[in-house]
Amino acid sequence: MKKIGLTTVALGAVALVGATFGGAGDAAAQERKFISIGTGGPTGVYFVVGNSVCRMVHKEAAEGRKKGRKHGIRCAAPSTGGSTYNIGQICQGELEFGVAQSDWQFHAVNGSSDKVTNCPGLRAVFSVHPEPFHLIAADGSGIASFTDTKGKRMNIGNPGSGQRGTTEVLMSGYGMSADDYAVATELTSTEQSQALCDGKIDAYGYTVGVPNAGVAVATDGCGAYIANLDGEVEQKLVADNPFYAFTTIPAGTYKTTAEDVTTFGVMATFVSHESVPEDVVYEVTRAVMENLDDFRSLHPAFRNLDPANMIKDGLSAPLHPGAAKYYQEKGWM
Ligand code: GLU
Repeated sequence: MKKIGLTTVALGAVALVGATFGGAGDAAAQERKFISIGTGGPTGVYFVVGNSVCRMVHKEAAEGRKKGRKHGIRCAAPSTGGSTYNIGQICQGELEFGVAQSDWQFHAVNGSSDKVTNCPGLRAVFSVHPEPFHLIAADGSGIASFTDTKGKRMNIGNPGSGQRGTTEVLMSGYGMSADDYAVATELTSTEQSQALCDGKIDAYGYTVGVPNAGVAVATDGCGAYIANLDGEVEQKLVADNPFYAFTTIPAGTYKTTAEDVTTFGVMATFVSHESVPEDVVYEVTRAVMENLDDFRSLHPAFRNLDPANMIKDGLSAPLHPGAAKYYQEKGWM
């Protein structure tokens, strides 16, 4: 049987106190369930998603204790390599939840790409914010399109990141490989902007929510700009794949975005696995949906979160029954 990875710890001390003082505390109070949420680099938006979800789960736990509605879940959201790392770990039962790009969710559940673990047991919980693919180029690099990165020093992203996979999809679309670059670096999202400002790379590709403090390090810090990606290759990617759509990074987002930038993008999605118990996914979903105003206030990329879209946009894996149960109770499905 697949390892669930969810640790249930019976708190002996609580049980003992209960016995000594005449049975105070029910069975739920004696159980602690630990869940881990895979995120991304510490300067990305996924890290904020994961830690916001934990915050809402713990808030519900605190309020539940007052009202006698206990879920016993304790949550952690460590920094990770990103989307494809998270999916791989969820599939092996090492993480219970994770944030992942909708393109890699699709490929994992359909087994349609060798860039992500084939994971038929992957389950969708909800989607979060849109993630445009950013081609970020150094001031004076002359890069105005993806083909212009040929012969340059390009950060293609760390293995395990969604940005690495999506950059490679774009490279194959343009008939390019890592050999077409003067140097192809594998820096993390946290390293890439400083590397660009230090003159170590000319460009990088990054799939991320808007605005992002990491991107601002390059745009506002050393005049890097975001190039449009709306040529034939991107048009074909959008036309052929349900998980891509054209999107706009609005003028004024960063110091160098004087005009709207047109590019293609995906959705950030929150995923789990069929082996994670229904009650755990139900409680996490409930904690998020009951505290959406809090969630919206925790990052500007979450400002427009709307349950009507969150329960369907970018979700190609089947909904986890724990999430579906909550949505049905609310009459949303
Ligand atoms: N989309 C990126 C990835 O999958 C992560 C973006 C973020 O950390 O916000 O690697």
